[in-house]
Amino acid sequence: MSNSPLVEYTLISPHRTSPRAYPITKITIHHMAGNLTIEQCGNLFQKRQAASNYGIDSNGRVGMYVEEKDRAWCSANYDNDHRAVNIELANDGGEPNWHVSDKAIAKCIELCVDICLRNGIKKLNFTGDASGNLTQHNYFCATACPGPYLKSKFTYIADEVNKKLGASVLPQDTPTQVICGFASKGDLSTFAALFKDLGTAAIYPKEGYIASAIALSRGDQKKVVDLGASLGVPVQVYETEATYGTPVPRNIYVNQVEPFTDDLYCRTEPNLSRSTRLGFVTPGIYNVYEVNDARQDLNNGYLWYRIEDKLWIPEGDWLYYYPAEEIPADDKDKKIAELQAENEKLLQENAVLKGSLETAENNLKIVRSSLNVATSDLQDIAVIADEYKA
Ligand SMILES: [Zn+2]
Repeated sequence: MSNSPLVEYTLISPHRTSPRAYPITKITIHHMAGNLTIEQCGNLFQKRQAASNYGIDSNGRVGMYVEEKDRAWCSANYDNDHRAVNIELANDGGEPNWHVSDKAIAKCIELCVDICLRNGIKKLNFTGDASGNLTQHNYFCATACPGPYLKSKFTYIADEVNKKLGASVLPQDTPTQVICGFASKGDLSTFAALFKDLGTAAIYPKEGYIASAIALSRGDQKKVVDLGASLGVPVQVYETEATYGTPVPRNIYVNQVEPFTDDLYCRTEPNLSRSTRLGFVTPGIYNVYEVNDARQDLNNGYLWYRIEDKLWIPEGDWLYYYPAEEIPADDKDKKIAELQAENEKLLQENAVLKGSLETAENNLKIVRSSLNVATSDLQDIAVIADEYKA
C-alpha cells in the first residue's frame, strides 16, 4: 500500500493500529474544528489520543500523520477506520458554520482522486449515510464533525472526484499497480515512449512527475525499473492489493481450479487481447462456472475457465484442476448441511476474535494514556530537580 505523493509534511502519530485489517475501500472527510496548519495538526495528533491519515490546511497543503497501510484512530468505528482513509480539513471560519477554504476543498478533491486511483476505488458513492464509500464522522458517533459547511459540500466533492476518475486515461477495472518516478523533461519523453511501447498509459499529475496506474505485468514493470536505473531516475513500484477474484472453500461437487501464482492475468473475456486484461487473479480455489475451449484458435490458444461473472483464467501449469467428485444424491444434502454448519462456526469464531481484538486495542489505548501521564509527571519532576540544583 502506498501513500500520496501530494504530502508536503509528515509527522507520524502513535495513535494508529498497524497494519489496517482490510484493504482501503472508503474515504472519510472530517473537519479540524480550528484553523490549524498541517504542522499544528501533526503536533496535536502526537498528544491527543486520535489521528487521521491526512490533513489539509486552509492553504491547501497536505500533511500525513498515519500511513495508508495503517488504521488511524479517527472515526471511532472499527469497521470504518480499518477500511477508510481519514482526511481532516482545516476551518477558516468558526462556529456555527465551520467554513472551509476553497483551496482546502480543491486539494481534498485532488487527494481523493489520488487515493482512489492508487487503491483501485472506481467511484465515490455518497449516499448520505454509512452505507456509501464516502462517509462522515457523525455517521458513527455523536459529533458535530464535519460541520454544516463541509457537510453541504459532500455531493460536490463526490461528483468532482468521479468526473476526474471517469475522465482519466485509466480504463475502468485495471489499476492494479502504480509506478511513479521523478524525471527531467528529456527523461520524461523516454519514459513516455516506453509506456507507449508497453501499451500502457502514462499520466502526468505535475511537471517532472511520472505515474502509470495501468496494470503492468511483472516483466513490463521490470522494464520501467531498468529504464529508471539506466537514467538515474528513482522509480518506485507500489503493489496495491487490487487483485481480482474471490476464492471459495474446497468442496467436492463442482469442478474447481486453484491458481497458485500471483501474476496470472484474469480477463473479462476468454481471449488474450490486451483490452481484456483486468488485473491479477487472487490465488485460491474457485468454482468453474463455464469452460471455453479456444485451443484451436492460434491467437488465444488456451482452455479458459470462467470463475466469476466476467472473470476468465487460462488453463496452464499455474493452476490445479479438481474435478467434481460423484457423490450419491442422498449424501449431497447432508454434505451441503455439513459445509454450511462449518461455515457458520467459522463466522462465529471470527466474530469472537474481532471482539477480542477490539478489547485489546482499547486496553492498549488505556496503557498509552497512562504512559503519557507518567511521562509528563517525570518531566515535572525533572523541572523541580533542576530548580533544586539551581
Ligand atoms: Zn471527525
